[in-house]
Amino acid sequence: MSCAKLVQLPDDGLPEVALVGRSNAGKSSALNALCGQKHLARVSKTPGRTQLINLFTAPDGRLADLPGYGYAKVSKDQRESWGRLVGSFLEHRETLRGLVVIMDIRHPLTPTDLQLLDWAKHRGLPCHCLLTKADKLGYGAAKQALLDTRKALAGDPGKTAQVFSSVNGLGLDEFRGHLRAWMRSPSPDLRDAAS
Ligand code: GDP
Repeated sequence: MSCAKLVQLPDDGLPEVALVGRSNAGKSSALNALCGQKHLARVSKTPGRTQLINLFTAPDGRLADLPGYGYAKVSKDQRESWGRLVGSFLEHRETLRGLVVIMDIRHPLTPTDLQLLDWAKHRGLPCHCLLTKADKLGYGAAKQALLDTRKALAGDPGKTAQVFSSVNGLGLDEFRGHLRAWMRSPSPDLRDAAS
């Protein structure tokens, strides 16, 4: 289902993992690869237009596909509306177990990526950085990009990273395993209460 406002989201308490990333980073392709379907999430050539949260049923929970950011041609109003929708979703959605930040492996950790990671830390939400389009780099360069990203995230145990390719399936099993573990984990609030 697609939601333009938080009040439209289901309130059945199912665990959710959100996917967010810069437009064109490969989020729709990653979702399609994950679900083994070609056209589930729209692979867009004119990114940045939809301001909807799309929900997909997954084993043990749900995936929330958040609208992409950073598309140069959107208006200030659209940027503000993105911030309001995504900001309040990340801030208030109690069922959230983790945030997947999708980044093109050739341009990881943009200022908005870093802002999101910081936001998640503030909320106590674990983050997994998916370095997509790894097939566009050679093995050594991809490995170096992963090491550099992990180094930049170092010091925060709630932040992880992996390489991924929707084209050749690199990292797909690792990504699935990560999502499964999150879906089965207690919510951050419950974790806090237990400690
Ligand atoms: P989104 O805007 O983040 O949803 O990005 P899309 O999934 O629409 O992908 C943007 C473009 O990158 C499309 O032309 C995709 O075919 C391409 N793309 C996405 N993932 C990969 C990948 O893993 N490898 C390669 N080579 N291209 C990819």
